[in-house]
Amino acid sequence: MTEPYTLVGRQARPEDSEIRVGDALVGGKELAIIAGPCSVEDRDQVLQIARAVKQAGAKFLRGGAFKPRTSPYAFQGIKEDGLVLLREARAETGLKIVTEVRDVLTLEAVAAVADVIQIGARNMTNFGLLEAAGDLRTPILLKRGMSATIEELLMAAEYVASRGNLNIMLCERGIRTFERYTRNTLDLSAVPVVKKLSHLPILVDPSHGVGLWEHVPAMALAAIAAGADGLMVEVHHNPAEALSDGPQSLRPDRFAEMMLKVRALAGVLGRTLEAP
Ligand code: PEP
Ligand code: MN
Repeated sequence: MTEPYTLVGRQARPEDSEIRVGDALVGGKELAIIAGPCSVEDRDQVLQIARAVKQAGAKFLRGGAFKPRTSPYAFQGIKEDGLVLLREARAETGLKIVTEVRDVLTLEAVAAVADVIQIGARNMTNFGLLEAAGDLRTPILLKRGMSATIEELLMAAEYVASRGNLNIMLCERGIRTFERYTRNTLDLSAVPVVKKLSHLPILVDPSHGVGLWEHVPAMALAAIAAGADGLMVEVHHNPAEALSDGPQSLRPDRFAEMMLKVRALAGVLGRTLEAP
């Protein structure tokens, strides 16, 4: 049977794609660890967290400057000021920057700074944005929509690829189910399924996946065991005061502890995670 996703499907490319981000490769043997705050808040916050996640072994710093929030009254990010701070954090630490684009209007500003442009769950079916991202060659981190099937996620990736940008990493971040104890239901079965259907790397975001920091390490380890190519984890030095997603953010010490276990598990699975 011919796959509907002609560019991102395994039939198009039987071997795994490795996405180059500077001197890092995502989708190879080495696990990609993206960590940082949900939102960039201020200079001290982002630099402090950047230093901590680097020390624990992350190679990528996440942080939203433009935040597409469910409520228009919720904190929307510090926008261009946040991009300036991310640039500064990269200059100091060497971490690669993963930051979210809110819409087509903010794409140019985000692309000028980002090493990886994040397209979030709320934008997975923003086809104009997917096409505009496809016209760039910057790597795209495409998150699964909260009610999207795996096929819809792959078709969204196909929109980006159809414009010539095959530098795409997918991200499972939980889907909406009847379960209310957790924020979302982290669909780890998406990892082996996507691996079978597509050559693109797939990462897992256990922070949005469960929404509760205390369960993040367990699900991070489960994601790696399931074959994920890396993790995206929210870290905040003062979760109680975070302007967004504090309840699911790990303190730096807990993140470092989790990374020790991720590194040990990587060894068992024939993956690698460089020591910091
Ligand atoms: C985020 O990464 O902070 C975010 C908003 O994620 P998602 O798009 O998965 O909700
Ligand atoms: Mn968040």
